[in-house]
Amino acid sequence: MEPQEIQTLEVNLRQVRTRIRAACHRAGRSEDEVRLVAVTKYTTAEVIEALATLGVTDVGESRVQDTWQKQESLGRTRVRWHLIGHLQRNKAARALELYDLIHSLDSRRLAEELESKATAPVDALLQVNVSGESSKGGFRPEELDALLAEASSWSRLRIRGLMTMAPHLENPSTTDSVRPIFRDLRELRDDANRRSRYRDQLVHLSMGMTQDFETAIEEGATWVRVGSALLDGLETTPQKTN
Ligand SMILES: *Cc1c(COP(=O)(O)O)cnc(C)c1O
Repeated sequence: MEPQEIQTLEVNLRQVRTRIRAACHRAGRSEDEVRLVAVTKYTTAEVIEALATLGVTDVGESRVQDTWQKQESLGRTRVRWHLIGHLQRNKAARALELYDLIHSLDSRRLAEELESKATAPVDALLQVNVSGESSKGGFRPEELDALLAEASSWSRLRIRGLMTMAPHLENPSTTDSVRPIFRDLRELRDDANRRSRYRDQLVHLSMGMTQDFETAIEEGATWVRVGSALLDGLETTPQKTN
């Protein structure tokens, strides 16, 4: 990477961290409660290397194949790897090798596949379709209880929290429309922690991306998944894909 590009990355990262800190402050939360997943699905292994040098410890990828290629050049342990995209069941075994945390566990059958293929403990978050948009994957809120009841019998797959994606903002200058989505996810987690046999084990809320991460922090996010804001102005950024 050109030195100028590294500098752009550094400035972007500093700005994102400053905004995270300010949102924590507004919400009266400790900064240690909120962690950044740098979403690198749009970009290259080289950029991940640069981010790691700048202190980024966690990256988010949405495709098994892309992650595998990036790990071929970077190694498995340079950063922690998060899966944030839909996982096909036939790639479950491969995903178990590639990721430290799966944010996008979105069906019972996938959960059962991961549990049966895992040979060591694996952490995952349940993706919840809070907004009810048909284009979005994930569990319906009313499905969580049954799933968590089943989860309490798994020996390797451990559900550590919930994840959601808010609808795309038509008007990015106000996040009023997405705040209730984040609040709902927090309430779902808190309810499940009280009721299910998973008592108090659902620690994480993975919510908030470039358009709305500050709002998500105000509503309790423990992981924010930020891509575009970090890569803004970089030439090496390929086209956006999912
Ligand atoms: C791409 C993606 C992100 C990051 O989105 P940005 O708008 O680039 O910050 C976060 N979460 C998920 C699930 C994604 O697919």
